[in-house]
Amino acid sequence: MTTETATAEPGRDFLRDIIDSDIAAGRNSEIVTRFPPEPNGYLHIGHAKAICLNFGIAEEYGGRCHLRFDDTNPTKEEQEYIDAIERDVRWLGFDWGSHLHYASDYFEQLYEWAEHLINAGKAYVDDLPAEKMRMMRGSLTEPGRNSPYRDRSIAENRDLFRRMRDGEFPNGARVLRAKIDMAAGNMNLRDPVLYRILHAEHPRTGAKWRIYPTYDFAHGQSDAIERVTYSLCTLEFEDHRPLYDWLIANLPVPSRPRQYEFARLNLNYTVLSKRFLTQLVSHGRVSGWDDPRMPTLAALRRRGVPPAAIRDFVRSVGVARANSTVDIAMLEHAVRESLNRTAQRRMAVLRPLRVVIENYPQDATEELEAINNPEDPACGKRRIPFGRELYIEKEDFIERPPKGFYRLSPGREVRLRYGYFVTCRDAVKNAAGEVTRLICTYDPATRGGNAPDGRKVRGTLHWVSAAHAEPAEIRLYNPLFSRPDPGAGGDLFADLNPSSIEILTESRVEPALADAVRGEAVQFERQGYFCADLDSAPNQLIFNRTVGLRDSWAKARASGG
Ligand code: ATP
Ligand code: MG
Repeated sequence: MTTETATAEPGRDFLRDIIDSDIAAGRNSEIVTRFPPEPNGYLHIGHAKAICLNFGIAEEYGGRCHLRFDDTNPTKEEQEYIDAIERDVRWLGFDWGSHLHYASDYFEQLYEWAEHLINAGKAYVDDLPAEKMRMMRGSLTEPGRNSPYRDRSIAENRDLFRRMRDGEFPNGARVLRAKIDMAAGNMNLRDPVLYRILHAEHPRTGAKWRIYPTYDFAHGQSDAIERVTYSLCTLEFEDHRPLYDWLIANLPVPSRPRQYEFARLNLNYTVLSKRFLTQLVSHGRVSGWDDPRMPTLAALRRRGVPPAAIRDFVRSVGVARANSTVDIAMLEHAVRESLNRTAQRRMAVLRPLRVVIENYPQDATEELEAINNPEDPACGKRRIPFGRELYIEKEDFIERPPKGFYRLSPGREVRLRYGYFVTCRDAVKNAAGEVTRLICTYDPATRGGNAPDGRKVRGTLHWVSAAHAEPAEIRLYNPLFSRPDPGAGGDLFADLNPSSIEILTESRVEPALADAVRGEAVQFERQGYFCADLDSAPNQLIFNRTVGLRDSWAKARASGG
């Protein structure tokens, strides 16, 4: 597996070089791109690369980018997906203005152009069953063979095609094919299918059509109608380009768009294919398209990832023509960088251990001052309550500490963040021998976290006041798959990570989190970045861990790994 690293000059790539030289040569009067999703699923982070590229180029060159739904397969497409795609593109920060288009808007025109090819002797109706047609297509090493229907007269082709349109034949009975070359080295030129019969209701055109154009027949012509200048798509369409060009050359289209290909985004431990993502949803392996473990934009949003982090990530990956796999740690790094600047700090104890400060006055409470974001003084300060009983993190206490453990243990003094120095005097255990409570003392002179006598402590712990803290459920996420190349062994579900989600129900958070706004990121000190989940409510707080604090990407980069 190769790991793509940041390009030498962020924001520069071979596509922008091509556009620059076209501009220098006076080949374009305007720059028009498009993002053409098929509305058969939710957008994922791979799509974000295509979105940032197409909308980004339009923005940089003062052109425009269209959002065009490639809605040519009514059996798999739904309005829910159309709505989700629009929402996600907007959320990512892009605007198509008045240029919201649908391939289905062009069905009438596409139909006319299909007849144009028939009339020119460049398309024919084929009655071969699908299986037979596939066999006769040949292979990479063997040329294909002509269909016995290839030499039908123009009149017969026109008649049959019109009857296909009028719904006279059942699904699969006939197709319209381009008449190009059954011996072409490029399989896509071996008389590709342009239209198929499909008796299916379309979300936009209803029952009007019984035949639908294929992707290849719809795509380039839609580009031409919209006067797209650069049709940017992923590498798997490279072999389709000769067909794209053939159609543009053989039809009376109003403009001549050109197709260029770039590498898809692949991420390790992640599946970026709508087909597989659909399976995860339909088989209930995740709670839905926006399950925070999914790589969809809806899931990343719910998990607390800001759109700016996705844009930064995509920029740092760059655009190239070589396929590669990006380390998921690079995405996490971008998320941390972004949230570190913006997220307010709070204290939350995920797995609480009760602490009683025996020399703190009974029933007393006080308020301590805490900084909201050390990266941004404008975020100000807040007050957090302190009392005789607190919670600290279970893992911050060890009875017999190993070397290098500087947190709490019997006799050891530590700092409570924004609070006091406390010393552990005793650990109370239950019948099973588990520590259930710590008895501590505090030094009133260390209020705010420093000792007037200058003595130092090595550990600083986060904490919450037991009397004031809010109970919360906290959902910790780990990669959805346990192998870097999920599905490579043939069974995608077998590669699901059994511990991709861990739900903590006993957590306690500081009172300032009681009215946490859904989706708004906060940093839980020493833990990571979190945000209130969609299901969170004021009396039933639920937080998602967006990402932990440890940055393995920055570390690997620093050590040259
Ligand atoms: P999938 O393979 O997930 O089903 P798709 O390519 O069929 O995706 P479309 O809706 O057709 O999905 O994609 C819209 C656009 O997004 C296309 O131009 C496609 O090339 C691009 N795209 C899809 N996946 C990626 C990816 N992983 N990286 C970059 N661009 C992508
Ligand atoms: Mg596609």
